Amino acid sequence: TKSAPSNFIKNVVIEDKKAGRVDTVITRFPPEPNGYLHIGHAKSICLNFDLADDFGGKTNLRFDDTNPVKEDTEYVESIKEDVRWLGYEWDGLFYASDYFEEMYNRAVLLIQKGQAYVCDLSAEEIRESRGTLTEPGKESPYRNRSVEENLDLFERMRKGEFKDGEKVLRAKIDMASPNINMRDPVLYRISHATHHNTGDKWCIYPMYDYAHPLSDAIEGVTHSICTLEFEDHRPLYDWAIRECEMEHVSRQYEFARLNLTNTVMSKRFLKQLVDEKIVDGWDDPRMPTISGLRRRGYTPEAIRSFAREIGVAKAYSVVDSKMLEHFIREDLKLKAPRTMAVLRPLKVVITNYPEEQVEMLDAEINPENPEMGIRQIPFSREIYIEQDDFMENPPSKYFRLFPGNEVRLKNAYFIKCHDVVKDEQGNVVEIHCTYDPETKSGSGFNARKVKGTIHWIDASQGIPAEFRLYEPLILDEQQEEGKSFLECINPNSLEVLFGFVEPNMKEVQPQEKFQFFRHGYFNVDPKLTSDGRLIFNHIVSLKSSFQL
Ligand code: ATP
Ligand code: MG
Ligand code: MG
Repeated sequence: TKSAPSNFIKNVVIEDKKAGRVDTVITRFPPEPNGYLHIGHAKSICLNFDLADDFGGKTNLRFDDTNPVKEDTEYVESIKEDVRWLGYEWDGLFYASDYFEEMYNRAVLLIQKGQAYVCDLSAEEIRESRGTLTEPGKESPYRNRSVEENLDLFERMRKGEFKDGEKVLRAKIDMASPNINMRDPVLYRISHATHHNTGDKWCIYPMYDYAHPLSDAIEGVTHSICTLEFEDHRPLYDWAIRECEMEHVSRQYEFARLNLTNTVMSKRFLKQLVDEKIVDGWDDPRMPTISGLRRRGYTPEAIRSFAREIGVAKAYSVVDSKMLEHFIREDLKLKAPRTMAVLRPLKVVITNYPEEQVEMLDAEINPENPEMGIRQIPFSREIYIEQDDFMENPPSKYFRLFPGNEVRLKNAYFIKCHDVVKDEQGNVVEIHCTYDPETKSGSGFNARKVKGTIHWIDASQGIPAEFRLYEPLILDEQQEEGKSFLECINPNSLEVLFGFVEPNMKEVQPQEKFQFFRHGYFNVDPKLTSDGRLIFNHIVSLKSSFQL
């Protein structure tokens, strides 16, 4: 794999190596298994795996599973699949829950050292007594319990003698600290819930700010990379490793999370879209999830190139979604076979073409990559074209088909329209043309030129297909007006069309990608395609105003 571009975290590693502070670089990707991974996670995956890879180090996949109520093995499995699909293989596969016993023992150590206490205040009372940026917090009336009493209560918390919320274990640090995270943060809470990994073994669970540094230290992680919101938590991260007397000292570094235009990235909102059936599951092609992007037709290569291009910065920013599209277009340009598809069919009868005759025409599979060879497409008396490639009363500069005008059929002949058939309401239902046998594609005909080239599908042999076109799921304009999440959802994000593809598409496989002439890139939907039903997801259009 290509080495990752330089960034500030890479520079930190170079310095650490130079100064002899670090030998083997160990990073980790630590998702909470409470949802499917999204493109923001992809940025973190690429960053962690590429960084270790560049220095011959290791990367663990660690499930940060300290919140039993929201976590599920379905998410664990999807996360493993998505990381592998992106092209990465982890060294160790771990669960924070594997360390619960050790974390518990270290918490006992904190109590013994007088650095943690059991507190009976409610979550609400703790929040209120924490103070504000300008006002110090108030000490809990339970703060000065004896070590013996704390040890006894903590053990009874573990045994299940108390109800959810009745007690917590808190660090005893400093209620006047300018950093609110250091004002006696909660280390353990009670939750009588079944955990996806540890079942009913535990009813007390460590908080993220306690579990994360300890997990990192247990695994010998050297560079623990997280998003910017955790910058203020770093003193607590360091405190936990130091006061728990961990043998290995991990260090935390923060970078700016990825935000994309017209996209929600928080799992909470993505889950809401799934639960309320606004989308067809976590892998709906409109979702910014890895599984959604895969089903839409994105490739791992495109996502990795995107992640490398956006880089790693300390400053908050919003990346234009068009940049992600740029990379899939680039990746598919030479790989995807080109073919024709009619998405909104209009029947054309070629009145001077012999009935019953079918001829096979040659067409290049990818003119930009001639090695892909030639395909054959049938042509006969009846074909389909796009509805909007015909106008009965066209404006000037319309060079496609209209009565009296001649156009080129891609890979075939020139045709000229001489008649229009309408239904009782006056809608055009069929058009009649003549073709000129002299103008066959590849024959070198140049006696006259036409301005328009349109695509088509043979009506006798074309295969019916369904096409799914997408618009962004989220409307940024609505967001800017301060509307609620549900009000920002684009009601027109999916359009389903029924048309035809070339007969040589009979054997296509789920996830095969094509460039449809003039329409852009499409992917064979892996979920809904079945015998007798062929569905293509629009990945991206052919052109964009976006410049890298
Ligand atoms: P969400 O808010 O979407 O639930 P999260 O941070 O709670 O995200 P985790 O499962 O805890 O989700 O994330 C695993 C890792 O991925 C973390 O190290 C986190 O920093 C990183 N990550 C999450 N979202 C982004 C993002 N948008 N950009 C970059 N990294 C991210
Ligand atoms: Mg998290
Ligand atoms: Mg989260």
